[in-house]
Amino acid sequence: MRCYKCRKSTGHWEAITRNKLHLLLSVLTAGSWLVVWLVVILVNASTAPKCLVCKTRFNKAKASNQIAAEKKLEMSLHAE
Ligand SMILES: [Zn+2]
Repeated sequence: MRCYKCRKSTGHWEAITRNKLHLLLSVLTAGSWLVVWLVVILVNASTAPKCLVCKTRFNKAKASNQIAAEKKLEMSLHAE
């Protein structure tokens, strides 16, 4: 994935739900952990992956704006 702050493709963190752990906890707590599990799934789903270099969250809109701006600049350089 491309980081708009580093201006290049970088490695990234992604929120991963550890389903096996949550399943175990749900069994141990007789099902009351299911509420926590659901919250974790919802939070992870709404969390964008983070850049490993600068810790900035990936932003598709910002990254594509930047690519568009760079292409425009490249085209204007070729025109001269
Ligand atoms: Zn970055």
